[in-house]
Amino acid sequence: MDLTSNEPFWLVKNGLLESYPSLAEDLDIDILIVGGGITGSLMAHKCISEDYNTVLIDRREIANGSTSATTSMLQYEIDVPLFELTEMIGKDAAEANYWACYDSIDELGSIVKHIKSDCGFDKKESLYFAAYKKDVPMLQKEFDARKEAGLPVKWLTEEQLQKKYHLKDAYAGILSQQGGSMDAFKFAHDALQYNCKKGLKVFDKTEIASMDYTKNGVKVKTDYGNTIKAKKLIYCNGFESTEIIKDDFVKLLSTYAIVGERIDKKQKHLCDTLFWNTADPYLYMRTTDDHRILIGGEDEDFVDDDKRDSLICKKEKTLQKKLKRLLPEYEFRADFAWAGTFGETKDGLPYIGEHPDFPSTYFLLGFGGNGITFSVIGANVIANLLKGNTHPLEPYYKFRR
Ligand SMILES: Cc1cc2nc3c(=O)[nH]c(=O)nc-3n(C[C@H](O)[C@H](O)[C@H](O)COP(=O)(O)OP(=O)(O)OC[C@H]3O[C@@H](n4cnc5c(N)ncnc54)[C@H](O)[C@@H]3O)c2cc1C
Repeated sequence: MDLTSNEPFWLVKNGLLESYPSLAEDLDIDILIVGGGITGSLMAHKCISEDYNTVLIDRREIANGSTSATTSMLQYEIDVPLFELTEMIGKDAAEANYWACYDSIDELGSIVKHIKSDCGFDKKESLYFAAYKKDVPMLQKEFDARKEAGLPVKWLTEEQLQKKYHLKDAYAGILSQQGGSMDAFKFAHDALQYNCKKGLKVFDKTEIASMDYTKNGVKVKTDYGNTIKAKKLIYCNGFESTEIIKDDFVKLLSTYAIVGERIDKKQKHLCDTLFWNTADPYLYMRTTDDHRILIGGEDEDFVDDDKRDSLICKKEKTLQKKLKRLLPEYEFRADFAWAGTFGETKDGLPYIGEHPDFPSTYFLLGFGGNGITFSVIGANVIANLLKGNTHPLEPYYKFRR
């Protein structure tokens, strides 16, 4: 009998943290945020801090989208290496994006502190290592690019990786000082609770039935027949943005994660670091604040819920096997395994800002392995746009770029 849960770990760990009503009245407001995951909660936090009359709706329970499935590694490192991003958008822009992600981890830490969230936010180092000998020259090129950008990085040899982390099949590594991890599900709930006390209104199980664009903004009709008039609409609807945006702007994949039983606290060499490698798809690993190993990867190039979930058992075994090869001394026993949808963009950058087909509307869509850091950056970009200002990074996040 297989007693491993297929629910994401965070849902089981946290249970039902808060429940919100569905919308049962008509509203006339400044800002309507659609999507109550970590992105919507960060955007709502920003809007409330800037005194906008703000409402957030979600079609599900709060934070039950990707935010419940994420492994929440907070990385300044974008899925596209710095040297490759430089070839795509130029040196200054690529470095500016890496630095923005770098700073966003500390900004997120400040928000966590400010709202007094016990979401396990923890600063960590980040290790990007070569999964194959043939990847070492590429890694060296990336190291040189990061050094040139002034990012605090250290080169580790195969021997050093073995000694420091007991890693096998790791042929060289870039160790970065900046990184972190958290429980994004708990944070999203905490941020919304904090802001509800400051005037934010949150409605879950509330779906948009129809939408009109007026000269004063948008007029939304919900599935229960209520109307929301808002000057601006901000979509923080994650991968489900592909339901409404008809462009080919993101490639959706299925991805898998497993979390083990709690480990001996003495394994400090694993707890203080985020790990990811150069394999394609890459393997990533971190520990949780209750000392479990969380490992993810094994992406599949399709989006089909049933097909994706039917592979969970197989993927769990493969991830365990890969972990054993990487950390042969480590006795891993899986507690939970689950699957989720993941998005990849051509340049690893998010989509933030206006879309020509949607008047009075902004999108805040962070994709890839550092979707969360882009959510932090995006809330700042949109806050600027709401005031009629620009943001230096906005051109790199445009649709149809
Ligand atoms: C297994 C896995 C591992 C990951 N690992 C990492 C990682 O280590 N680091 C990292 O930074 N990122 C990671 N990601 C990506 C990260 O999870 C996402 O970037 C992040 O959770 C996106 O949050 P979000 O709030 O934008 O989207 P979601 O959490 O999906 O929230 C969107 C919300 O919008 C709602 N919604 C959608 N459409 C509508 C509508 N029409 N009306 C009302 N509501 C609507 C949904 O119900 C949902 O609650 C991972 C993702 C997965 C699946």
